Amino acid sequence: MRSSRVWHPFTQHALEAPMRRVLKTEGAFLFDEDGRRIFDAISSWWVITHGHRHPVIMNSIRKASDQFDQVIFAEFTHEPAEALAEGLIDLSPRGLQHVFFSDSGSTAVEVAIKMALGTFHNRDIKRNRIVVMEDAYHGDTIGAMSVGARGIFNAPFEPLLFGVERIPFPEAEHEQISLDAFEASCRSGKTAAILIEPLIVGAGGMKPYSPSILHELRAIARRYGCLFIADEVMTGWGRTGTLFACEQADVKPDILCTSKGLTGGSLPLAATLCTEDVFEAHLSQDRRKTFFHSSSYTANPIACAAAVANLSVWNDEPVRARLAALSDMHTHHLRRFAGDPRFANVRKCGTIAALDLNVSSGGYLAEVGPRMRKLFRERGLLIRPLGNVIYLMPPYCTAAAELALAYDAIDEVASEIIRERAP
Ligand code: PMP
Repeated sequence: MRSSRVWHPFTQHALEAPMRRVLKTEGAFLFDEDGRRIFDAISSWWVITHGHRHPVIMNSIRKASDQFDQVIFAEFTHEPAEALAEGLIDLSPRGLQHVFFSDSGSTAVEVAIKMALGTFHNRDIKRNRIVVMEDAYHGDTIGAMSVGARGIFNAPFEPLLFGVERIPFPEAEHEQISLDAFEASCRSGKTAAILIEPLIVGAGGMKPYSPSILHELRAIARRYGCLFIADEVMTGWGRTGTLFACEQADVKPDILCTSKGLTGGSLPLAATLCTEDVFEAHLSQDRRKTFFHSSSYTANPIACAAAVANLSVWNDEPVRARLAALSDMHTHHLRRFAGDPRFANVRKCGTIAALDLNVSSGGYLAEVGPRMRKLFRERGLLIRPLGNVIYLMPPYCTAAAELALAYDAIDEVASEIIRERAP
């Protein structure tokens, strides 16, 4: 085994086997150095939408790299960024008018928080409270961790994370509690923004909630002049069955964060979209009101060209029909687990399917997580359960037969784990 100096993300190197090298990606698959073909059932951390190396996107990258590398984005603009901004505005919920580029989901969220706080600051309004949902995940930079759930992931930094207000997750039948909590916070007059993962809490356990609650939260925010920030980093680009999740609740956010599937998963890029009002709050003869955020690789032209190509895939190919077909396949396969005592909370949100393995110790650190991962890998599948939560979020090119094999593997792996844990 070759040794490696690479420190991998979310990896306890003292416990994990050395990483296998991936030699190639194609469609729904990774091909590794052992000659294995692995079904990427979680779209490589939710970024791959249409499939690995979609030809239209890869051609666009090749073409753009004949013309561009990085171009400073404070002095100049370029066609890929301009075309992308226009295209994004066309496809996004109405009311979003301006596009700020960055390079990851976490930075898209940081930008959103700064835009919201800057809007009130520049208008001399004393509002700086941010409301989030329990169990939320918004990224791993310090600001993004502050607005996310607290726990083992951020315990060492906890004393330095800024305080936010949390409303309960809107459990079915108890949703009013969340709405009331948000309204109470708004009544204080100090709330600047609510930041929310629309329709489904992702890394916090793949927990969907009703579109009507999303709609209600938006209505409350509007009533109290509080900015509504949709973190569509995971939900965007078709995952929940529509291009953006907000569409299903007829929600028009003030600020929207997108990344992951923005380039079809081919290159890192993020965008934070905002209304005219948010943009105007930063427009002034007074330079102190400038939006002071940048990163060196802002609006990388090659990544922007990849995203423009992704928009053309959405326009030219039957992507929505593929989402519907994938969603129907999940419904069909999940049926076999309904009422199965090995599982709880069998659920689906568009192209995302999830179910909890009924084992006593839950939580992300539960040993069943890594054990299941290993058993799935032995069966040629990349699935990374969140503790005892098994989920599938495959690329949209996934063939019916491949998905059926993944569900067979879930069936087998669940039985094996339960057998192993039997007294
Ligand atoms: N927001 C949400 C809802 C996410 O799911 C993620 C990543 N899983 C992020 C933000 C952070 O994105 P990134 O990992 O690209 O920084």
